Amino acid sequence: EIVLDGVEKRYGRTQVLPPLDLTLEDGEFTVLVGPSGCGKSTTLRLLAGLETLSGGEITFDGRPISKLEPKARDVAMVFQDYALYPHMNVAKNMSFALRLSRVPKDEIDRRVAAAAEMLGIDHLLDRKPAALSGGQRQRVAMGRALVRDAGVFLFDEPLSNLDAKLRARMRTELAEMRNSIDKNMIYVTHDQVEAMTLGDRIVVMNAGRIQQQGTPEDLFERPVNKFVAGFIGAPT
Ligand code: ATP
Ligand code: MG
Repeated sequence: EIVLDGVEKRYGRTQVLPPLDLTLEDGEFTVLVGPSGCGKSTTLRLLAGLETLSGGEITFDGRPISKLEPKARDVAMVFQDYALYPHMNVAKNMSFALRLSRVPKDEIDRRVAAAAEMLGIDHLLDRKPAALSGGQRQRVAMGRALVRDAGVFLFDEPLSNLDAKLRARMRTELAEMRNSIDKNMIYVTHDQVEAMTLGDRIVVMNAGRIQQQGTPEDLFERPVNKFVAGFIGAPT
């Protein structure tokens, strides 16, 4: 269980997250939606321990994140801007974290091959990021997280740069992954179809505040306000 308790983030005097309370149950696929700039990526970065909290606390199974070594946080994140290593080819990008944690080579090769196949990038393993299209880079970014055996997966708009056909295929793969493994997943998207098909629970944010959270059915059938209805595509 991951608990955000009064989590705040300020940059200088600008408050980008007002106190935010959110509980993420184990094995749940949580989708975070909300307009650009509302604090979705900031929330994920705080969960990954990449930013320091300005207030409040995040606990993983009761242990405060500030007391956990980055490795012990057990988080794999897909970054919105991909953050690939430009000097490494695709295979090396995907295996970087595994090599760091000294996973045996044949195990690394197996996991990279499986993720690359799932993502349809198995023919690109020798390429450097500069020689890839945007959608290919995005899939490498996803592959880098999927090879990890983490307890928590954070996805920041992982399919936003893919064409409709690939996006549908990836959505299906993710839905299967969601059903087959018992992980905490937090998924940021602007895509209503993704939110509705993948989410066990959808959290709608606006300006750092949670407007409503619930199952896709809850939000669609009983949106608390027009903002939520608009985001979910529910009739108003
Ligand atoms: P998008 O959908 O466009 O990705 P988002 O919900 O992910 O948006 P965040 O990236 O979390 O939004 O940003 C939230 C707010 O924090 C924005 O107003 C942004 O300008 C601000 N912000 C983010 N990083 C910094 C920073 N390093 N310094 C100052 N302000 C920042
Ligand atoms: Mg973002």
